[in-house]
Amino acid sequence: MACHAAGETAGDEPVSQPSPWRCIDGCGACCRLDPSLRQEAIEALSPEQQQRYLELVGPDGWCRHFDTGSRRCRIYDTRPDFCQVANLVTLFGGGALGSRGGDALAIACCKQQIRSEYGGRGKVLRRFLRAIRLR
Ligand code: SF4
Ligand code: SF4
Repeated sequence: MACHAAGETAGDEPVSQPSPWRCIDGCGACCRLDPSLRQEAIEALSPEQQQRYLELVGPDGWCRHFDTGSRRCRIYDTRPDFCQVANLVTLFGGGALGSRGGDALAIACCKQQIRSEYGGRGKVLRRFLRAIRLR
């Protein structure tokens, strides 16, 4: 969860034909919920969602339900609505951009969070970029 790239439309690289967004296994960069890093995302939530969000934050800033070893959500099937990227994109107005605009916004969010957690030259970002280009 926690897109804080809401001001972006396609990341910091020019994208004339945005790729379809997709999530990759073994990432979880968006599960780092530290409120000091996610202020913009938290402000977009309803008061009830904000409360739920803050309850999820563990002492290390990662979600309490994130398994940092396997990098997987332990409650994936029952995760909060704001963890689902489609809902998140809607929260940030991506729906109004059409499906391609929503994809571009989701991709920008993922790129920002992956860079922040795993580095801009790391394997996770390379895997993500490969995955969105494979479609
Ligand atoms: S940052 Fe993006 S690719 Fe990584 S787990 Fe979250 S939604 Fe999936
Ligand atoms: S509930 Fe699951 S998907 Fe949502 S932030 Fe926590 S680990 Fe990530």
